[in-house]
Parts: sequence; structure tokens; C-alpha cells
Amino acid sequence: MLSVIIPAYNEEKCIRPAYERIQSLLNENNIECEFIFIDDGSTDETYKVICELSKEKNNITGLHFSRNFGKESAISAGLQAVSGSCAVVLDCDLQHPPEKIIEMYQLWEQGYEIVEGIKSSRGQEKMVYTAGAKFFYSVISRMAGFDMANSSDFKLLDRKVVDVLNNMPERGFFRAISYWVGYNKATVEYDVAERVDGVSKWSTTGLIKYAFSNITSYSTAPMQTVTVLGFVMLVISVIFGVWALIDKIVGRALEGMTTVIIITIFIGSIIMISLGIMGYYIARIYEEIKGRPKFIISSTVKSKKE
Ligand code: UDP
Ligand code: MG
Repeated sequence: MLSVIIPAYNEEKCIRPAYERIQSLLNENNIECEFIFIDDGSTDETYKVICELSKEKNNITGLHFSRNFGKESAISAGLQAVSGSCAVVLDCDLQHPPEKIIEMYQLWEQGYEIVEGIKSSRGQEKMVYTAGAKFFYSVISRMAGFDMANSSDFKLLDRKVVDVLNNMPERGFFRAISYWVGYNKATVEYDVAERVDGVSKWSTTGLIKYAFSNITSYSTAPMQTVTVLGFVMLVISVIFGVWALIDKIVGRALEGMTTVIIITIFIGSIIMISLGIMGYYIARIYEEIKGRPKFIISSTVKSKKE
């Protein structure tokens, strides 16, 4: 059985179309399936729609979060509820074309344990997003040591992989962790479709925060740049030191106040940036060490099996 995991945040209008489209597609291909909808603390009628749907159909599980915990948490919750022998994660807005699930499923049947959806185009996104995403992925790919361009959360995972992910205590980044675990991988390319309804839940500041927290959770490179900056400053200070000594010897010592000011503020800002980077890691350690749950499920619905 295939478990379809769908995180949903304020998607009241998307739940039904998503269910119907995916269900009929899987029916045509004789793939048995269950649906796991995770309502990520929506403020609209999303959970109500999920509850109604679970009464009408016989293969739906709905989880309702006590508040909005974010898509990563929603995916974690979904993975923990999987009872199939493989699971696919896709967006509620059908931007991940459901037709590709069939292709992914066939690859899984051939023995691949992770089938990655790779974006071949990014669809209709704002220019800044495309540029932002490009920059983000080139930075994170370099820092984390694997190519992450065009990757997405659209993936099909074997039961084994789901179990491994469920046993990882850390707050991961779904699309990266599935690279980290290894396994036999295949990829399927897809074009990002238009949203069925509603608007994207990402704000620009949200995306920046997301980028930052993900870079720091997969790489310590920013901390190492602090050391590099330290060495750069050392070289600069040697040069200026020699220069200052020469000035002193030649008797021009009083000039150069501007240089002193520039150096002081430059060093000051480098130190502050460095402290900020360190602080970021400390904050992450603190977050992890508190060991709070990734999400809180406040209610669950399950369709009755016939
Ligand atoms: N989503 C979620 N929690 C959030 C934000 C988004 O579960 O806090 C879900 C959302 O309902 C959708 C998917 O994540 O199914 C992708 O969100 P969205 O379409 O807003 O992002 P985009 O496609 O613009 O990256
Ligand atoms: Mg979307």
C-alpha cells in the first residue's frame, strides 16, 4: 500500500481536489493507497473538510496540530503515521503533479528506495524567488556538500527509509535528510504546476529564515568562515602594523587617524558578525537540547474501514 502524505496549512479549498485527483489516478493504476492529511494548525476550515472527507471515504487519516508548526513538522507527523510499504509526500496545492506519483511508484517497484522529484522548471514564481532560490541552493549545496538545486519535498520513500527518518531525533530538513541517509535513489523530473487555489504560505522573511536555519543545520561552514575572517584580519593588521611602524620611524606618526577609524569599525563589525554566527549555532543547540516535540497533535480522525 502507498501512503500519500499531504501537509496542509489553510488549504480548505485544496483538500478535496487533491484527494479526488490523486485517488482517481491511483485507482486507474490499481495502486492501493491511504491518505494522511496533516492540518498544520490552519485558521480556516481545513480540518473540518478533512473530517468530512474522512467520513465519506474509507482511506483517510487526518491529524490536526495544536498550532502552526511548519511544513517540516507536518511532514514528520505524516511519516510517523505511515502504514503503507512506501510513502509519497506532496503539496496540497497540487503544484507537485500527481501523475508523477505513478512514475515514482513504478521506480519503487523496480527496487529504488528513494525516488526524488526534481523540478525541471520552477513554474510561475516571482523573479526574486527564482533568484533567491538559485542563490540559496548554490550556497547550501556548496556548504552541505551535496547538490540540492531543484530538489523539493516531493519524494517517494520506501518503508525502510521512513523508519530511519522516524528514528532521527533531530529537526531535519526533509529534502536534505533524504540525501544524507543514502539508499538506492532514482529521480523523476517534473514541472511545477500552478496552485489549485489560494496563495503561497511563504513570506520573503519566512524564506530567509528557512534558508538560514537550514544552512546552519547541515553545515558548520559559517562557523569556519569566522576562523578564515580571523586570519584575513591578521594579515591586514600585519600590513598596517608595518606601515604604522615605518610612519613612526620616518616621523609621520600623527597622520592616519582615518585609517585607525576605518580599522576599528571594520574589526568591530567582523567581530559582531562572527558572534552572531556563533550565537546562531548556540541557539540551535539550545533548541535541540530542550528536546521539545516537533509538533503537538491536538486531534486525529480516521475513516472507518469497510
Ligand atoms: N504548508 C504547511 N505548513 C506551513 C506552510 C505550508 O503544511 O506552515 C504546506 C502547504 O499547505 C502546502 C505545502 O506546505 O501543501 C507547500 O506550501 P506553499 O504552496 O505555500 O509553498 P510553495 O509551493 O509556495 O513553496
Ligand atoms: Mg505551493
